[in-house]
Amino acid sequence: MLQQMEGDSAGDGETELLDESHYVAVSPRPEPAMSNISENEFSCHCCYDILVNPTTLTCGHNFCRHCLALWWESSHKNECPECREKWEGFPKINILMRDATDKLFSEVVQRRRMEIQANPKISRSLLAFQRHGDNLGRARTTHNRGAGFFFSGVLTALTCVAVVVLVFHWGSGVMEQHDLLISKPVSHWTSEDVVYWLENLGPWTEPYRGAFQQENVNGRLLLMLGDEELMKKPYNIENSVHRRAVLAELDRVKALGVKPPQNLWEYKAANAGKSLFLLYALKRSPRLTIFYLYLFDYSETFLPFLHTCCPPFTHTEEPVESSFLKTQLEPSWQQWVEFLVKYCVLPYQLIAEFAWDWLAIHYWTSRFIIVNAMLLSVLEGCFLWRLWTTARLRTLPQQMWNHLWKMLSQGFAFALMWPFVPQFVCNCLFYWALYFSPIINIDLVVQQLMHPETQAQ
Ligand SMILES: [Zn+2]
Ligand SMILES: [Zn+2]
Repeated sequence: MLQQMEGDSAGDGETELLDESHYVAVSPRPEPAMSNISENEFSCHCCYDILVNPTTLTCGHNFCRHCLALWWESSHKNECPECREKWEGFPKINILMRDATDKLFSEVVQRRRMEIQANPKISRSLLAFQRHGDNLGRARTTHNRGAGFFFSGVLTALTCVAVVVLVFHWGSGVMEQHDLLISKPVSHWTSEDVVYWLENLGPWTEPYRGAFQQENVNGRLLLMLGDEELMKKPYNIENSVHRRAVLAELDRVKALGVKPPQNLWEYKAANAGKSLFLLYALKRSPRLTIFYLYLFDYSETFLPFLHTCCPPFTHTEEPVESSFLKTQLEPSWQQWVEFLVKYCVLPYQLIAEFAWDWLAIHYWTSRFIIVNAMLLSVLEGCFLWRLWTTARLRTLPQQMWNHLWKMLSQGFAFALMWPFVPQFVCNCLFYWALYFSPIINIDLVVQQLMHPETQAQ
C-alpha cells in the first residue's frame, strides 16, 4: 500500500517535471513557434492551396468546402478524399480554422473566394452539397421528433378539426343549396331562391324581404323589376342607395344568368379551375399572379381584391351598401400606393388581409390562409437573407427570370391539362393546398430558423 502510494507520488512528480520542462521549452520563446506556421499547415490536400471555408471530416482531415463538394459530387461517396474513411452526418465548416486562415492569409483567401464565387460549376456543386446536407438534416429532425414535429402534430390536429367541420357542413346540405343557386338559371328561381339571394346581399335587405316573400317574386318576375317598380308599393325601397344596390346586383345576375358566388365555396363551385389555379399560383408566386389578375381579370377579381386589402381612407357621405358596387369604384391614389408597397414588399400580407376580411364567413379556412401567408412571408425573408449572407444577391434577377419562365410554362400546362383532370382529383388538390400546405410550411420555417449559419456559406 505504502509502496504503491510512493510509486504514485513518484509518478506525479515525474509528470510535473515533464510539464515544467515543457513550459520551459515553449513559454519563453513563443514567437519563433508562430513564425514556423507556413502555408503548408493550412493547405488543402485536394487543391494544395490555402484552405477556404475549411471543413473538418470525422476522420480529422480538413479540406476546402468547395473541394469537398466537388469531390462529393463526382464520387457520390461520403468518403474522405485522403484516407477514404466514411464521414458521419454532414460535415460543417471549422469556424476556428476558417477565422485563422482568413486572418493569416487574408489576401490569398479573399482572392480564392472571389474565384470560387465567379465559377458557376463550383457554385452549383456547393449548392447541391448544401441541399444534400439540408435533406439529411430534415430527415434527422423528423426522426428526432424535434420542434418541427411538434408543430406539425398540432397543425395536423387542427386540420382534422377543419376537415370534420367541412364534412359536417356538407352533410347539413347548406352547400347543396349554395351550389344549386350558382348553377341554377335565374329564370328558374323560385320565390324562396329570390329571398335567399336577397338575404345574401347583406343585412340591409332585411326590411324588404317580407314584401318579396308576400308577392311570391320568382326568378322571371325578378328580372322584370326596375327602378320604378322597386320604389313603388309593395316593395317600397325608398332609400335610393339601396335601390341602386339591388339593381346593380340584379344586373350582375342578369349578366351571369345565375347567382354570382358570394363566398369561397360558391366561388369554387362556380369556377373550379380558376379557384384551383389561383390557390396554387398565389402560393407559388403572388406577385406574378396578382399582376396577371390586373391584366386579365381586372373588374371581376382584381378590383374587389384591392378594395378588400386596402380599403379607402375617406368614408363617403353616402354609404354604399352593396359590397359589389363598392368594389367596382376606381381606387384612389392612396389605395394604389398602399397596395403597390405591400405588393412589392409583402405580397403574402395582401392575401392574409384578404382572408382576414372573410373571417366571419370562413372561420377555419381564413385562419389557415392567414397562417400560411405569414409562413410564406417568413420563408421568402429567409430565402433573401440567405442570398444576402452568401453574397449571391446579384443572382436574384436571373433567379426571378427563371421563376417567371417556370411559372408561365406551368400555367400553360395547367390550362392544357385542366379539362382532362377529374373533379375528384381537383377537389383533393384544392383541399390539400388549403389545409395541408401550412403544415409543410411550418416545418420548413422551423428548419430554416434552426439552420446553422455556418452551413449556408
Ligand atoms: Zn481545396
Ligand atoms: Zn481522412
